[in-house]
Amino acid sequence: MPQSGGNRLVNLWSRRANRAILATCLVGLAVVSLCTTVWFLAVHNGTLRAERDLTDRLTTTQRAVESEIERFRYLPSVVGEDGRIRDHLLGIGTSNQANSYLQAVRDMSGADEVYLLDTGGLTLAASNWDEPGSFVGNNYSFRPYFSDAMRDGAGRYYAVGVTTGKPGYFLAARVSGPDGPLGVVVAKVDMAPIEVTWSKAGELTGIADQIGIVFLSGRQDWKYRPLDALTPAALATLDAERRYDGIGVPAKQPIVGRPLLSGASLVLDDPSGALLASTVQIEPDGWTLFSALPLAPVYEEARLVTGIAGLAGLLASAIVLVLRQRRQFTRMKLEQNAVLERRVGERTEALHHEIEERKRTEAQLRDMQENLIHAAKLAALGRMSAAIVHEVSQPLSALENTLAASGLHADNKALPEVKRNLVSARDLVRRMQRTVKHLRTFASRKDAGALQPVDLAGVLDAACEIVSPRAREIGVLLERDSVEAPAVLGNGPRLEQAFINLILNAVDAAGTGEQRQVGIGAGIDGDNAVVAISDTGPGMPKEVRDRLFEPFFTTKTSGGGLGLGLSITRTILEEFGGSVCFASAPGGGTVTRVMLPLHLASRQAVAS
Ligand code: ADP
Repeated sequence: MPQSGGNRLVNLWSRRANRAILATCLVGLAVVSLCTTVWFLAVHNGTLRAERDLTDRLTTTQRAVESEIERFRYLPSVVGEDGRIRDHLLGIGTSNQANSYLQAVRDMSGADEVYLLDTGGLTLAASNWDEPGSFVGNNYSFRPYFSDAMRDGAGRYYAVGVTTGKPGYFLAARVSGPDGPLGVVVAKVDMAPIEVTWSKAGELTGIADQIGIVFLSGRQDWKYRPLDALTPAALATLDAERRYDGIGVPAKQPIVGRPLLSGASLVLDDPSGALLASTVQIEPDGWTLFSALPLAPVYEEARLVTGIAGLAGLLASAIVLVLRQRRQFTRMKLEQNAVLERRVGERTEALHHEIEERKRTEAQLRDMQENLIHAAKLAALGRMSAAIVHEVSQPLSALENTLAASGLHADNKALPEVKRNLVSARDLVRRMQRTVKHLRTFASRKDAGALQPVDLAGVLDAACEIVSPRAREIGVLLERDSVEAPAVLGNGPRLEQAFINLILNAVDAAGTGEQRQVGIGAGIDGDNAVVAISDTGPGMPKEVRDRLFEPFFTTKTSGGGLGLGLSITRTILEEFGGSVCFASAPGGGTVTRVMLPLHLASRQAVAS
């Protein structure tokens, strides 16, 4: 079924709306995908960067820790070579000398304490010999650094001091004599400054021992906590070596809680947020350097980048959508205009056809009207034919008589009589010519033509002349007022036909009355000329008056009337802006009143 222009537009709109919804969904999907991708990329890149930073930090810290220990590496062996120490071990020297020496070494080297053990682990001399909590007299044979030094010549060990309760790194070196080991020199190094540095720098760094317990850390809550859950063997070692005496390490929560691979990073769930952690081994102690970086900045940056990407995506999509919509809007307006133009074109064509059709119908109507008028004329002529024949035959026989008399007068050579007869014969011929001329003019077809000034008196005279034979025939006296009638606007022959119809009707009506008289008068009423035709007929009953102008309505049953006279008369008068109406005359009969607009010149003449 063909769609109307309106439906097409509605469909167009709904299709566009669906497409706009789809486009918006696609844009939304694209922006979400973009944000997701950017988020993962940003997190990935940030994590990689954090891993690199972490590795750098671990390397730097590893170097710092190693160099700190290295500083004291040879201190015990150097001290063990000193004569005062050896003498004291051999029982030659005094303990005072050894104590003073060790005190001087401590103060100059920066070590925490330096002390001397005999082969049984008993402290013979110490740098803190004269201080409270002095090591002198204590036995440290249970410490691994002692047994390692006795066995291998050197030992190193980190522990919380059993005597002082202070943590420290113990470096030990065996002192050997010609007959075997004499004793062990131990230097205790305080590593707290490293811890302070980390803490001040806010570094999340720590060092765990061989069994995984953090003994140094920039974060205090990590200290003395295991990285992973401690194994039974580790617990046994801890107990045997009294490494972190009195701290209660086994009860503490592991920091990581899963095995750590050196160099590999992992993400920790910390109360402060996610942390990226990594480790590196510090040899030869088998320590684990553990460091972590908060991932919050990485997520923060990722959020920022994702937000910017999302906004940029939305902005780009909005620009694309706006441009697309503008293009669609323009296209739609063009389509709308095209539809409207097409509809206007169709309507114009339809109107054109209608106008053509109307013109054709009007032309047909005009033709029909002309034919009807002509038919009415012929009908009127038919009605008057007997009278016309009489009108022509009477002068013809008079002419014959006149001409016969002229012949006789010619035979008698009575020239003046002949002349008189000829003059009267010519009069008769002229009379016949006039009648024939009127009839010919009346019967001929003539179009309405243009409006022109028409002498109303002439029109009325001609009409009376044509109707008068009929009036004479039926014994009706036709009285024409001599009042001068003005000029009106119209067409002479048409007006003549209208008045012939009206006068003829009046004559016909008067012919059935007692008095048989028709009066024709003319005058002026305002801007109009008025013609009154009064007859002495029987008047008009109401049912006749109601149907007067109906085509083919006639009361003339004898076949004399066509019933077209009045309808044609009214058409003719209205054509010239005039009208006709009927009224009953006071003494019986009918008065027919015709109004016709005056010609301008007549109006001015009347006004002056
Ligand atoms: P027709 O003369 O052929 O009958 P008309 O249209 O001229 O047709 O007249 C219609 C009828 O109007 C006439 O038949 C007649 O009955 C009536 N009529 C017209 N003029 C008069 C008049 N002056 N007096 C009485 N009746 C009239």
